[in-house]
Parts: sequence; C-alpha cells; structure tokens
Amino acid sequence: MTTYSHIQVPDGAKIEVAAEGVLQTPDRPILAFIEGDGTGPDIWRASKRVFDAAVEHCYGGKRAIAWMEVFAGEKGNNVCGSYLPEETLDAIREYHVAIKGPLTTPVGGGFRSLNVSLRQKLDLFACVRPVQHFEGVPSPVVSPEKVNMVIFRENTEDVYSGYEVEEGSEQARQFLEFAKKTFGWDIRTDSGIGFKPISISGTKRIVRAAIKFAVKHNRKSVTLVHKGNIMKFTEGAFRKWGYDLVREEFSGVAVGWNDCNGDPGGKILVKDTIADIFLQQILTRPLEFDVVTTMNLNGDYMSDALAAQVGGIGIAPGANINYETGAAIFEATHGTAPKYANLDKVNPSSLILSGVMMFDHLGWNEVSEAITNAMVKAFKDKTVTYDFARLMDGATLVKCSEFATALIDNL
Ligand code: NAP
Repeated sequence: MTTYSHIQVPDGAKIEVAAEGVLQTPDRPILAFIEGDGTGPDIWRASKRVFDAAVEHCYGGKRAIAWMEVFAGEKGNNVCGSYLPEETLDAIREYHVAIKGPLTTPVGGGFRSLNVSLRQKLDLFACVRPVQHFEGVPSPVVSPEKVNMVIFRENTEDVYSGYEVEEGSEQARQFLEFAKKTFGWDIRTDSGIGFKPISISGTKRIVRAAIKFAVKHNRKSVTLVHKGNIMKFTEGAFRKWGYDLVREEFSGVAVGWNDCNGDPGGKILVKDTIADIFLQQILTRPLEFDVVTTMNLNGDYMSDALAAQVGGIGIAPGANINYETGAAIFEATHGTAPKYANLDKVNPSSLILSGVMMFDHLGWNEVSEAITNAMVKAFKDKTVTYDFARLMDGATLVKCSEFATALIDNL
C-alpha cells in the first residue's frame, strides 16, 4: 500500500480489478472522494449522508464504505500546494473508483480544466450520462417522460485535447507559415488555432463501450451523432469507423442501418444522425433515441440540452469510466455555482444520482435502487430544493441538507 503525504488511507480494502475491467468489490471498499469547489462541499456532505444511510439500510452493517478524501481544486491548492496534486492521481489509480463534486475552471486563461485533466490523465475515455425523467420533476417540455437516453461521450480527444496556439504567438506564426507552405491554407494571420484529433482507436473504444452497454441493458439502438457533412475526416470518420466496428466485432448482436435498410430484425440497430438535426429531434421525436454516442464537444452540448428536458443540470448525473481498466470517477455534471456556495441551498441530486451510477459500477445494485426509490418518493411528495420549487405549485422548499434527510427518511 502506498503512503501519501496528505491523503489519509482509511481502514478498508482495495477494490481489485479482474479481466476486462470487472470490479471485485470487498465489503468495506476504500472509495476516493473530492469534495469540490463552490457548492461542492454542501452537496458532498448531503450526498455522503445518503450513501452511508443507504448502504446501512441495505446491508445492516455487513458492508460499509471507507471514504478516503483526495484533494483537488482550491482545497488541493490549500492542502497540497497544487490544484491537481500528483498524489491525487496516484491514489485514484491505486484505488480505481472515485466520486467528485464540481471544480472551478477559469475561462480564457489560467490553468486548464481540472475536470478535463483528470479524465485525460487517468484515460477515463467514456463520459456516461444517463438522461431520464422522474415523475413530478418540472420540465420545460410537454412529455419529458419520453426521454430515456444514455449518452456515451468520448472524453480524451477532439478540440478538448488541449492542442491550441494563441493568436500572435511564435507557435501560431510558425504553424500558419507551415500550413501556407505545405497545404496552401490561407488562414487569417490574426487567428488563434485549435486542433481536433479524432482517432480510429479513440472512436472504436467509445462506440464499443456504447454497444456493450446497449447489449447488457437490452437497449434497442445506438446512435452515432456527428457533424460529418462538414468535418469529413474527423466527425465523418467517427461515423465510418463506428459502422466498421459493428461489422468487425458485433455482427451477432448489432447491425448498422445501411446493412439492414433500417430493419435490424431483433438486433441492436446502430444508426447515425447529424448533430444539429439531433438537437431538434430530441425535442420532437425523443422516443427514437436510446443509447447515443458522440465526440467530446458534441457530447458536452448534447448532455446539457438533454438534461434541461428532464429538469436541468441540478439532477443530471455523470461518470467518467475506462471500461478496459475499471477505473472511474463519478461526478456532478453541473459546475460550482459559486454564488450559492456555503448557503446549503442547491440541489444535491446530480451528485447523489452519480453515486447511484457508482453503486451500480461496484455491483451494489440494491443500494442504487434504494436511493433511486427514495428520490422518486421525494419528488412525488414535492419535497424539493429551490431550483425545482420555483417551478412547482404546492412544493415544500427544503435546503440541500434537508433534501438529503428527506431521502434518508424515505429509504
Ligand atoms: P454552474 O456552476 O453549473 O452554474 C450555472 C447555473 O446552474 C447556476 O447558477 C444554477 O442556476 C444552476 N445550478 C448549478 N448547480 C446546481 C445545483 N446543484 N442545483 C441547482 N441548480 C444548479 O455553471 P457556471 O456558473 O457556468 O460555472 C461555474 C464554475 O464551474 C466554472 O468555473 C466552470 O468551469 C465550473 N464547471 C465545473 C464542472 C465540473 O466540475 N464538472 C462542470 C461545469 C462547470 P440558477 O442560478 O438559475 O439557479
């Protein structure tokens, strides 16, 4: 067992990873957590109480979680002198599973996104975001219950790779000169430039994860979302490589649209759609989408748009997973909402539902079910935080911590 400078390893056992990333979870697994910045500590405190109570409720003391705090963001800087300390990355590598609150990222300058860095450094290539409606949750659309999708967003490539050169810099000047000389590209000389790498291996592993998920959960279709009509060698190639993979590895269980004229005959249908029309169709024909997979930037936009349809980012969970190694970080998908920090006000549901995904990943499905049922009851009772209360008639407005108490009472 590694000794860390700032991280206290609690009494508990390490999760082991068997072949193909399958976890072997002991009865007292050590799980890493990052509290997060802004509203992070409020929602983490509330969520942890719900997690511990649900585990106790399901296993009556036979199982429990040994929580291990690891540091990042402002607390990382205060405790370890770094916003993303190496020992935090090492501890997550060693213990495999972590859960985190949101972390601050400056816009336009300063350090790179800590969230993006965590995903890239730990190679958590799949950002998985289930989107479904809970009865009673206010929504801006007429039939939110028709939305039941799981987004598989590629996490390590695309314009998020961080290959950028600043306008006016020597690197930009050299690149522009190279591009002009080699390709004849007339890019404006006062441009900043970003790169958009999309690889065969990166594409195939995210599409593979999406199809395997669809098989495991009896889903009907997997849609590849892309802007391949414009970006032919990146997004267009994603579409082509996705269909290639279906033929190469999944012909027994899945079939591409063009290989079956849209009639999959009991197999999973793999189809594709252009990103802009997708954003229309999730509103006009949401029943046509099930598992959805796409590249990094599209996935970011799509998951917020879909989250809005079922009640907003206060209730949207997410996970970053490497399905080959089993390593995973579960996270609230919203940001730090700094104006509400330390007010015990915001909705902890996003982090709590990310915990539900975490318990599924650990194989503790009883716990996920218990928490989900407790939340369904709270929404039916209209016991909600400010974000939902302002959109509901007859709601009982509760604080963040009181919402957690309501869930615990509902277990
Ligand atoms: P944000 O923190 O997500 O907040 C935007 C708005 O979303 C809030 O003003 C609030 O809306 C609503 N909201 C957020 N969390 C909520 C919750 N738990 N319950 C209810 N409503 C919630 O977005 P931002 O203000 O653009 O970003 C702030 C910082 O967070 C930035 O530094 C950004 O980079 C970072 N960020 C981190 C992550 C992450 O860690 N994964 C993700 C996104 C952004 P109302 O005011 O309308 O109530």
